[in-house]
Amino acid sequence: MVSKKDPLSKYKKRRNFTKSPEPAGKRKVKPSKKPIFVIQKHDATRLHYDFRIEIDGVLVSWAVPRGPSLNPKEKRLAIRTDDHPIDYAKFEGTIPEGQYGAGTVMVWDIGKYKNIKTKNGRVVSMKQCLKNGQIEIFLEGKKLKGGYALIQMRRKDQWLLIKMKDEHADARKNPVSTQTKSTLTDRTLKQIEKADEPCEKAQNERFYV
Ligand code: MN
Repeated sequence: MVSKKDPLSKYKKRRNFTKSPEPAGKRKVKPSKKPIFVIQKHDATRLHYDFRIEIDGVLVSWAVPRGPSLNPKEKRLAIRTDDHPIDYAKFEGTIPEGQYGAGTVMVWDIGKYKNIKTKNGRVVSMKQCLKNGQIEIFLEGKKLKGGYALIQMRRKDQWLLIKMKDEHADARKNPVSTQTKSTLTDRTLKQIEKADEPCEKAQNERFYV
């Protein structure tokens, strides 16, 4: 059902779940104490990385064309996209031609995150951080660890994803180009694409877990 208050209404509106293997999804009723993040490599019209973090029961999302960096000096453009349902975090598969977001999706990294944004010694809620356009989180992924900031720019949908300076920062490493397989299934984009031919919904369902 599409309602004005549903943060997933845009997500649902753009999709035909009888044709796309993506999860129809529900908003989580209870916000978790240990929220998750996921980075999905998406071989769509243009390859990009979907950076998603759980805030108040949904995955608030950005498309990062160049993917995350470990170098605090590199600011990566992140374009805010539709909120996604929590169960999208483990979605891996191929969205068929003609459907919104057509192309292959890989779970490049997934894990828990901590909100580390403070003001006057107090943690600022993620909801408020999102509103303020200033997010600081500590990722506990398989590929990515450490602090990342997401800073909103003047154009409201444009943000910057920046590695914060900490012991996990490393300008010499570039995991986007050296670690190219799925964290969930250890497959390449090609292997995911092949497994999905012909794209049957049933084949994908085991990856929803
Ligand atoms: Mn995408």
